[in-house]
Amino acid sequence: MEFSPGYEDHQCKVSASVAADAVEAAVRCLEDCPLFNAGAGSVFGNDGRIRMDASIMVCSIEKSSSAAEGKVSGGQRDKAVVGPDKISQKRRYPITPQPQAGSVAGVENVKNPISLARAVMERTPHVMLIGKGAEEFAQSLPKEVVETRPDDYFWTERRWGQLIEVRKREEQKQHQHQEGKGTIHLPPKQSLEVQLDHASEKGHDEQKFGTVGCVALYIPEKKSGFNKPLSRPQLASATSTGGMTNQRFNRVGDSPVIGAGTYANHLCAISCTGHGEHFIRWVAAHDIAKRLEYKHGYGSAEGKKDGSALKKAVDEVVFGTLMGDGNYGIDKGSGGVIALDRDGNFTAAMNCSGMYHGWIYEDGGMETRIFWDECSPKEP
Ligand code: ASP
Repeated sequence: MEFSPGYEDHQCKVSASVAADAVEAAVRCLEDCPLFNAGAGSVFGNDGRIRMDASIMVCSIEKSSSAAEGKVSGGQRDKAVVGPDKISQKRRYPITPQPQAGSVAGVENVKNPISLARAVMERTPHVMLIGKGAEEFAQSLPKEVVETRPDDYFWTERRWGQLIEVRKREEQKQHQHQEGKGTIHLPPKQSLEVQLDHASEKGHDEQKFGTVGCVALYIPEKKSGFNKPLSRPQLASATSTGGMTNQRFNRVGDSPVIGAGTYANHLCAISCTGHGEHFIRWVAAHDIAKRLEYKHGYGSAEGKKDGSALKKAVDEVVFGTLMGDGNYGIDKGSGGVIALDRDGNFTAAMNCSGMYHGWIYEDGGMETRIFWDECSPKEP
């Protein structure tokens, strides 16, 4: 049997996507800036190497073309399902537009991992490529799509210093643990405020995190005939990271895991940063999207369109699920989230000391924020 690598046969699954263009462009800028933990500013792993992860997801926010062809009515489709007893029955289920996703993990020397993730989405039949396979795929792409750079492009003194610092701290911890064996020290129960102050004093978050992400909503102008817009209304999300300082060789965090660090469906787009293991265990980005839909009814006839549902879903996951019982908040799912719904409502939340974030409106107006108390868990 002849094996086809897939790439040539699956050119551009997604037609022109303006929302994907937007999130990719924003993340590329951040990857090129050595101040962030992605691309040129990525952190070092415990073997002194830099390996990067990235993912992108796009979803159309209106019914699929089959709806336009009249196969669908009222957002429901009839489907004949043949059960194990061979009795055919009819089930009705809501139609959701087909999402597209691409991701890469553990890649070295790729200048913009987000563009490689997009290429996986658009030019292969797959969702995720890792390590050497992803790098080989990068080499096969035109330079205009994905560029590579030598090791020294990614080397920064600041990140090297952080590796040494984190190693020292972890050695000290190990030492203390050896000395105090047999005694269990439980941290006292603390309020969220105390825990967050404690975290910022230590400055740990800054050294550990710094992943970049972007969420975007595209609504085409209404045009007719030959001037029809290229793309349908879409939501998109993108996330890119160097992972966590001193991470084990080949450790993969949440950022390239669709549903954990990145998610977009027909209702919202989510991008996360933080202690990836927790975001993976709780499938954080997907949880937010599903809470929005199932619990808060967003997207249904009764659902409010003012962004309150999105804020509730984000706060529940960031300040509830990820923080656990609040006892060990700092070591639990420390991090933050940016989210956008299909009505253009944006929200951000973090349970760590700070997360640099900003947003831009259709008219070009911009806002930026950093600290957690600027977007604390208040009712909207
Ligand atoms: N989430 C990333 C990871 O765990 C780290 C970060 O957000 O900075 O790999």
